[in-house]
Amino acid sequence: MSERLQAIRGMHDVLPERAPIWQHLEDRARAVIEGYGYREMRTPLVEPVELFKRSIGEVTDIVEKEMYAFDDRGGDRLALRPEGTASCVRAAIEHGLLDQPQRIWYRGPMFRRERPQRGRYRQFHQIGVEVLGLAGPDVDLEVITMTRRLWQALGLADLRLELNSLGDSDERARYRTDLVAHLQAHESALDDDSRRRLDTNPLRVLDSKNPALAPVIAAAPSLLDYLGDNSRAHFEALCAGLDAAGIGYQVNPRLVRGLDYYNRTVFEWITDALGAQGTVCAGGRYDGLVAQLGGRDTPAVGFALGVERLLDLIDTSSIDTGPDAYLVTLGEAAAAAAPAIAERLRDAVPGLKLLMHCGGGGFKNQFKKADKSGAQLALILGDEEVAQGTVGCKPLRGAGEQRSLSFDDLVATLHERVNQRT
Ligand code: ATP
Ligand code: MG
Repeated sequence: MSERLQAIRGMHDVLPERAPIWQHLEDRARAVIEGYGYREMRTPLVEPVELFKRSIGEVTDIVEKEMYAFDDRGGDRLALRPEGTASCVRAAIEHGLLDQPQRIWYRGPMFRRERPQRGRYRQFHQIGVEVLGLAGPDVDLEVITMTRRLWQALGLADLRLELNSLGDSDERARYRTDLVAHLQAHESALDDDSRRRLDTNPLRVLDSKNPALAPVIAAAPSLLDYLGDNSRAHFEALCAGLDAAGIGYQVNPRLVRGLDYYNRTVFEWITDALGAQGTVCAGGRYDGLVAQLGGRDTPAVGFALGVERLLDLIDTSSIDTGPDAYLVTLGEAAAAAAPAIAERLRDAVPGLKLLMHCGGGGFKNQFKKADKSGAQLALILGDEEVAQGTVGCKPLRGAGEQRSLSFDDLVATLHERVNQRT
């Protein structure tokens, strides 16, 4: 016997049983995001490695350690995308979308070769938005307000918002000098990664997940003290907007994010319910990225949320995973009439999930299958019903007698059922 093949570690199948829960989140997210006028963009899962090196940054965890990069048979250096922003910007430049502001969203799998654990996978899924061409704090406020609406739509109450400003590049450069001095003074307390990053990318040290570094990081100078007038005004306007919108936040001066392209506003939505993998949504402003990738100077802001982490948080108990109804038959005339009746029901009730029994078998056996399918209702069609133009309808979950319904009454009952679900 040959060895059993398995999915790659850290990459997971979504089985049909779980798919409705994914769809629930995706549907809600799409409705909220498109409610702000954002339009979806779909880009390839594979891009030139160079795109991610030039955007995310050479000296980042993602590019140094986590990227699935490979040479294809033609010798091109490619990578499975580790995130979505770089691809969106690449596409916007390539297709000339930047002559007016763009509000874009995307969804799909991302790939990072991390150590698999709860909330951290090698193929995971993000839903993200990118706004290209708007510079003000009003649009930063818009994307954060959108996330709050999304948490409400998903029934999530216990997320907290952390906020920081990374300033502009000259402000960060001055901060960097002082941060390096601070870190050098505590060099013996640093780990190898951080010591190496002292020269190449010292701000990244603040993003270290190593608990041993926490005291050194806590004592580091605060970026907010280095903001110039414009960056400060931008940050204060955003804070005022959040206050006015009633969105609570905590300013965290150590929040830097693990990607190099951010400037000014950065934020994360965090839960305490998932341990170390507590960030469910992260984003910020990246005013320099479009130009850095060869486009015209274009301010930008966006975020990405981690679908698996959110799925871990939402209460899925009320999400139906079965069909609305399962049609069983008794007798030959009924079996012959059933397919056409099922089609008429699907015509009459938009959105109806109707499973028709296939494969024959006795009535009892069919009924068992109906129950096992998770359906809310069993629809029973016997020869007598066919002759009378009625259908039996029996609730399978909870109490309720079997009733004989005319076709129109059945349509009304099924409408009600679909409305309940959606
Ligand atoms: P972390 O600090 O947890 O490694 P990150 O800063 O690398 O996250 P981003 O690149 O900002 O994450 O991605 C945005 C969101 O995508 C994260 O907040 C998280 O919810 C999710 N995410 C990132 N990496 C993974 C992963 N390997 N598995 C599952 N979700 C992930
Ligand atoms: Mg990471």
